[in-house]
Amino acid sequence: MPTPLIAGNWKMNGLLGESIERVGALAARVAAEPPHCDIAVCPPATLLRPVADALNNSAIALGGQDCHAAQAGAHTGDVSAEMLADAGCRYVIVGHSERRSDHGESDALVRSKAAAAHSAGLVAVVCLGESEAQRDAGEALAVVERQLAGSLPASVSAADTVIAYEPVWAIGTGRTASLDEIAEVHAHLRRLLCGRLGEEGRDLRLLYGGSVKPANAAGILAADEVNGALVGGASLAVDDFWAICRSCP
Ligand code: PEP
Repeated sequence: MPTPLIAGNWKMNGLLGESIERVGALAARVAAEPPHCDIAVCPPATLLRPVADALNNSAIALGGQDCHAAQAGAHTGDVSAEMLADAGCRYVIVGHSERRSDHGESDALVRSKAAAAHSAGLVAVVCLGESEAQRDAGEALAVVERQLAGSLPASVSAADTVIAYEPVWAIGTGRTASLDEIAEVHAHLRRLLCGRLGEEGRDLRLLYGGSVKPANAAGILAADEVNGALVGGASLAVDDFWAICRSCP
């Protein structure tokens, strides 16, 4: 069983003072009572360097929320994977549904971003998940299968990639997929990963994301083939995020 990962996606939230206070409080709890999981926080790009400095000597890793597929160049407003690594990141989220919908990101673009992450020595957290209409139409498994095939680069390995299954209808809505729904999709993803990577596919971490809260975390994290969570809203409150980390079996 791979060590679970709890990753906090702060999205476009956080100013300097409150953010340093938040990670300081989290780091103190992790140091006092190490949980049974790896932990990462993914603040906005403006906060990466100060948060990296605040996390110095902490077991908490840093992640970016997105990267450009190119290493450098004329891409106003974008950040490369190499820049994220230079700022102290170990992870980068790619293909989050908000990027896919707000910026029209395709599986092919997500795949090239994940490849760029690997080239920069980062672990790519590749997000995928069906919409509500796709689930209602009985297409959830086919959608995630297509996204997985399209979004993973040739360089994928258990060490350099994490998959986050995030049903779009559960992100930021307060609705969570049922344990049966999560187990069905995760089992399917695991089969596909083992088909592609052989035995190594068992070690690639599969996270669930979508309104994970302290109240539902223990059940989700104990479900078959769930190796952690990608947490949005609840990662902004130290007590809630810490309670989720502590829920890892
Ligand atoms: C996310 O942003 O990846 C997410 C899962 O958000 P939330 O936990 O708020 O649903």
